[in-house]
Amino acid sequence: MAVIIDGKAVSLSCREKIKEEVAKMAAKGIVPGLAVVIVGDNPASRTYVNNKKKGCAEVGMYSEEYALPEETTQEELLELVEKLNNKEDIHGILVQLPLPKHIDDKAVIAAISPQKDVDAFHTENVGRIMIGEYKFLPCTPAGVMELLKAYNIDVAGKECVVIGRSNIVGKPMLMLLLQANGTVTICHSRTKDLKETTRRADILVAAIGKAKFVGADMVKEGAVVIDVGINRDENGKLCGDVDFEAVKDKASYITPVPGGVGPMTITMLLKNTLEACRDENK
Ligand code: NAP
Repeated sequence: MAVIIDGKAVSLSCREKIKEEVAKMAAKGIVPGLAVVIVGDNPASRTYVNNKKKGCAEVGMYSEEYALPEETTQEELLELVEKLNNKEDIHGILVQLPLPKHIDDKAVIAAISPQKDVDAFHTENVGRIMIGEYKFLPCTPAGVMELLKAYNIDVAGKECVVIGRSNIVGKPMLMLLLQANGTVTICHSRTKDLKETTRRADILVAAIGKAKFVGADMVKEGAVVIDVGINRDENGKLCGDVDFEAVKDKASYITPVPGGVGPMTITMLLKNTLEACRDENK
């Protein structure tokens, strides 16, 4: 039976450290501030935004929410981003995705000041990750790396396989594992012999968005299995991309869903906001 990686516990301990750092800054009269922008009324986005605000409050950070109606124009949203770029008490800006269809999310991301881009989606920050000179890391892959570190799982020299090539998870995950000296393969929907590839992995990261897609037959005995997926199973219950029950006896370490990677994502956002504030006040 694999060691179950406790994302909640790791996240709590990271947040304690962030809270201490925030308190030290507050003693000097500096409070890190995050602006969260939500457009429309997507229920999942609403939950994420609420959790982000709650996370800020828990570590003593300041946060502002801008809830805009669905019919907000791209121009209006860009104006708000520009205002936040210049707002002194705001160090991080997060525009919750997805945006309504009439708004070009690329234009909005491009408008966020790279210094305040705590999601690390701006092309400048993406480019920095490519050359290993980054200020911010995208929150979910950064959370995965923190989990590996917390469990002393060394990536160097390991065969790492990432399933999924999204800009938010798969691609930056590839870069971070590579920078940690893993030998990395990325798979996607056009990969031939997916099973052959995943069975080579010492560290397997699933970021697909398909409930229980990764079965025991896709996993090497003793592999570390990291499940980024957040899905609903046939009974409406939250589950990952990995068939946890089938894989847990084959893996050496495994993240559960919920309680694995998920809790780390907002924690990494708080970490990025703290870094942005530090950078601004150095
Ligand atoms: P995405 O943009 O939909 O990307 C999914 C990736 O999976 C694509 O690259 C796709 O390949 C690949 N894929 C789909 N079907 C496949 C198949 N049959 N075989 C191999 N690859 C396949 O999703 P995402 O935004 O990266 O998110 C992935 C999952 O992570 C979702 O469940 C999402 O909810 C979750 N997530 C969790 C967190 C968190 O905080 N834990 C954060 C972000 C996302 P193609 O490129 O060829 O289409």
